[in-house]
Amino acid sequence: TAPASATTAGAAPDHLAHNYHPLPVTIATGEGAWVTDVDGRRYLDLLAGYSALNFGHRHPALVEAATEQLGRVTLTSRAFDHDLLHPFADRLTQLIGPLVRDGGPGATPMMVPMNTGAEAVETAIKVARKWGYEVKGVPAGQASIVVGHGNFHGRTTTIVSFSDDPDARDGYDPFTPGFRLVPYGDARAVSDAIDETTVAVLMEPIQGESGVVVPPDDYWPTLRRVCDERGVLLIADEIQSGLGRTGTTLACELWDVRPDLVTLGKALGGGVVPVSAVVGRSDVLGVLTPGTHGSTFGGNPLACAVGLAVVALLETGEHQARARDLGTHLHARLASLVDDGLLTGVRGVGLWAGIDLDPARGTGRDLCEALLARGVLAKDTHGSTIRLAPPLVVDRPDLDLGMAALRDALTQL
Ligand code: PLP
Repeated sequence: TAPASATTAGAAPDHLAHNYHPLPVTIATGEGAWVTDVDGRRYLDLLAGYSALNFGHRHPALVEAATEQLGRVTLTSRAFDHDLLHPFADRLTQLIGPLVRDGGPGATPMMVPMNTGAEAVETAIKVARKWGYEVKGVPAGQASIVVGHGNFHGRTTTIVSFSDDPDARDGYDPFTPGFRLVPYGDARAVSDAIDETTVAVLMEPIQGESGVVVPPDDYWPTLRRVCDERGVLLIADEIQSGLGRTGTTLACELWDVRPDLVTLGKALGGGVVPVSAVVGRSDVLGVLTPGTHGSTFGGNPLACAVGLAVVALLETGEHQARARDLGTHLHARLASLVDDGLLTGVRGVGLWAGIDLDPARGTGRDLCEALLARGVLAKDTHGSTIRLAPPLVVDRPDLDLGMAALRDALTQL
């Protein structure tokens, strides 16, 4: 088994704020599902940049797209158009369009390009509120949005305003009003929280940071029906669940539900550059008019070049199929760890799993350190829960290697 890197991230200089507690490894290079640290030690990456690296480290098609664009133009700002902006919007909405509501007969879906996931969520919130006032007729200043307990949608002040995680929230008040928290997975609670001021229901299809929490099968179909009946927008935050991870392009496809808006991020930039977007109904995104929203970097040429290459990878369906097939294998291996009493629980779909350890045996951090010593990178979410999200390009022998390391680490905890 491999010892942790001698040159550790724990030796970070004091100039770096302490808002992270990384595992003691300092990565120097990466390729596919593997990274190498500064001492030349290799690790299998089972975190994949919190699912930003669905296509692995330095996917050749993405590196080529970025490199070629670096030789052309990298930033124009939205004060001017560039030659990849509309092609990216067209191709992304061709891919995602059939999976979301379009805005009525003859309408085609639209997209708003941003950079980070939090910005896409902020955009969706702003658009939903504006739509509520201008189209639905919600009284000024009253718009409300229903959200789920255990949510994670990003780190801005408005987004942490509706988090129920004290670490994410405490000390950052005063908070933005207008959000109603209800238990996740309980469609009745959502319905009860909706009133005439409600503009949207905003949920993760599967809660990632919370430990890959999969709601009951009738949850999303019921949310869709309730939102239709009450004239409320259904917004799916697919920033972590989307773009292949669950074996489908969007997680909402698992239940055959088409949201009004989806937020995308992380893997949309292939782990190369930050790229995010809101995609959905043109009659909703149409409330945005010149000057009412924007971003210096949103939709920049480099982002569009990489984003187009990401869309091309997803169009083949190859990565979704890998996530389905290898996901079945992954979940069978994890189920055997539960059967053998080494894990207390496993959840997830596709190449995505939340695993629970008996807290008496150790914390998630303890297990991640034991995995690190065995050449595997993973990260705890909360307490004794760890999320596994290998790059979708991982192959079966490598996945088996990771599962063998997990069994060994659990046995020796
Ligand atoms: N939404 C979801 C579901 C996420 O998982 C995340 C990040 O983990 C975000 C939003 C925020 O994305 P970013 O860190 O790029 O702002």
